[in-house]
Amino acid sequence: MDAPLNHIFFPISFNELFSTWDHFPEAVPYAGGTDLIGRQGKNIINLPKVILCLDKLAELHRVTRTEQYLEIGSMVNLNTLIRLGKISRSAETGNGRKDFLAAEKTPAIVPKILSTCLENIAGIQLRNTATIGGNICSASYLYDLAAPFTALDAQYELRSANTSRWVSALWFHSSGERVLESQELLTRVRLPLYQWDYSIYKKFRNDDLFSNEILIFLAKAQKNILTDIKVVYKANTILRNKNGEDILNGKILPLSRKMALDFLQNWQDFLGNRSDITEFSKNAIISNIEENVFILSE
Ligand SMILES: Cc1cc2nc3c(=O)[nH]c(=O)nc-3n(C[C@H](O)[C@H](O)[C@H](O)COP(=O)(O)OP(=O)(O)OC[C@H]3O[C@@H](n4cnc5c(N)ncnc54)[C@H](O)[C@@H]3O)c2cc1C
Repeated sequence: MDAPLNHIFFPISFNELFSTWDHFPEAVPYAGGTDLIGRQGKNIINLPKVILCLDKLAELHRVTRTEQYLEIGSMVNLNTLIRLGKISRSAETGNGRKDFLAAEKTPAIVPKILSTCLENIAGIQLRNTATIGGNICSASYLYDLAAPFTALDAQYELRSANTSRWVSALWFHSSGERVLESQELLTRVRLPLYQWDYSIYKKFRNDDLFSNEILIFLAKAQKNILTDIKVVYKANTILRNKNGEDILNGKILPLSRKMALDFLQNWQDFLGNRSDITEFSKNAIISNIEENVFILSE
């Protein structure tokens, strides 16, 4: 028996894309294809019956910078962004406490935490093909980029035939339901150009190659006042503890020992009730937060 025919469309404009999608509501956007087909490991791969290949939509390949934001098209591949990060890296300061307390305020184009995350995703060949949009929109896994984009307060632009809306990465990844509506496309990621003086990225590999645990610790100071701190943890879900952040925001550096311990206790309480996180992961999160918060304390 003949194999059923697949339809593959290469729209060159959003009009064309959305009108094709209207005709074939079951059509699936195809970016780099590494999530759609990359894990099949068979000689004959299963493709969605109708494919909307996003490659010819020039707008989705663009990276632009305004005074306040870096905007990344959803079809930009992971290595392109790594390369851009390397160009800007020389302008950024280091991440030890010494640097943190005396940091220059030079906004790097690609935040270091994002570059580090990208460099730790799979191998170079996969990163040449896999796109930002595919990593964010996978329905199978909560992939790694959810962590830095949440920590960096990224916004995602979602477009359909008649609407366009911006949603926060935090909401997109933690709302507990699929935020992308049917026939809706992620078009751009908008990142505020904001300099973090202290940034730590930790990836814990676990048994599932595709579902990594990540901890991000970011802090910013102005004249030795801690003006912003963010701790984000990702596994199959995204966690951010805003009450904990409020304990330290606005405090003088170095932090007192007591303040650091209060922060730690707050995280312990926050994690204590979560049945979706293993004891092993809770211990790993706490010991990493402990290490970082004590670097900022006396
Ligand atoms: C061997 C291997 C190792 C890997 N290791 C890691 C790892 O360590 N960390 C990690 O984070 N990931 C890892 N991955 C996953 C990889 O990062 C993703 O497969 C990749 O980012 C998906 O991007 P893509 O462009 O190939 O997406 P595609 O496969 O083309 O699409 C993925 C999904 O997103 C949808 N989609 C794509 N673009 C859009 C858009 N613009 N709007 C709406 N929906 C869209 C598609 O319809 C599809 O459902 C690994 C994958 C492999 C095969």
